[in-house]
Amino acid sequence: MLNRKPFVGGNWKMNTDLLSAGALARGIAAELVDRPAVDVAVFPPFPYLLSVNSILRERGAGIMLGAQDVYQKPNGAFTGEVSTEMLKDCGVKCVLVGHSERRHLIGESDDIVNRKLARSLEDGLGVVLCVGETLDQRQTGQTDAVNERQVRLGLADVSAAEMTRVIIAYEPVWAIGTGHTASPADAQDAHQKIRAVLADLYDGEVAASTRIIYGGSVKSANAAELFAQPDIDGGLIGGASLDAVEFLKIVRAAAPAGARHPA
Ligand code: PEP
Repeated sequence: MLNRKPFVGGNWKMNTDLLSAGALARGIAAELVDRPAVDVAVFPPFPYLLSVNSILRERGAGIMLGAQDVYQKPNGAFTGEVSTEMLKDCGVKCVLVGHSERRHLIGESDDIVNRKLARSLEDGLGVVLCVGETLDQRQTGQTDAVNERQVRLGLADVSAAEMTRVIIAYEPVWAIGTGHTASPADAQDAHQKIRAVLADLYDGEVAASTRIIYGGSVKSANAAELFAQPDIDGGLIGGASLDAVEFLKIVRAAAPAGARHPA
């Protein structure tokens, strides 16, 4: 993974309630104070951002607060949507864009994903751009083309300087929430090809320094093997991030050898 700092994010999706979100944040924060080997972020549901933020700050845990989505306009008559400034008011530092559940269940296009990403960067947030193929696309040999298209369109008009605030999450749709994980070799292959797209879009330096993380049924039992691949810089974790002990094991699996702290 060269000198890219590993990143592990917990995407809580539409799970938890006020009490359990607080307990989960406390459970993670209790173990992660002053552990700088891995960048860790949690992405709670919108209504719990403020309370999770105050728990994380109170514990001085250095865990980044993330949001699962954002709207592409700064403010105005967009009922139900949430702006970058609102998220920043709640302590959010980074957002997910293009998660497969938003692309495939909500119907977000590459253009919308790009506009959300651009708005977030313009307003100073970090972004995790999620890409990945469906099962049908994999079975018909389109994996690399789909990833390339989603990366190129998602990053349209993003400068090399802004890329320091972008992480790409390769998340094959067929692996998300299904218990089926990409093999380490298949995941490495996809990551390497995404890195090659970055080299073509920008240059070798951007390609070598951008973190590309894997998502799709990562658990403590398979994390180490996935994160050991040279182009896999950590993970975006859904189901397994709802259990603090399991999530912490995954975070530890991402730490460079020598920095793995005890349980
Ligand atoms: C995700 O939601 O980004 C994800 C990878 O989910 P899971 O780990 O549950 O497959």
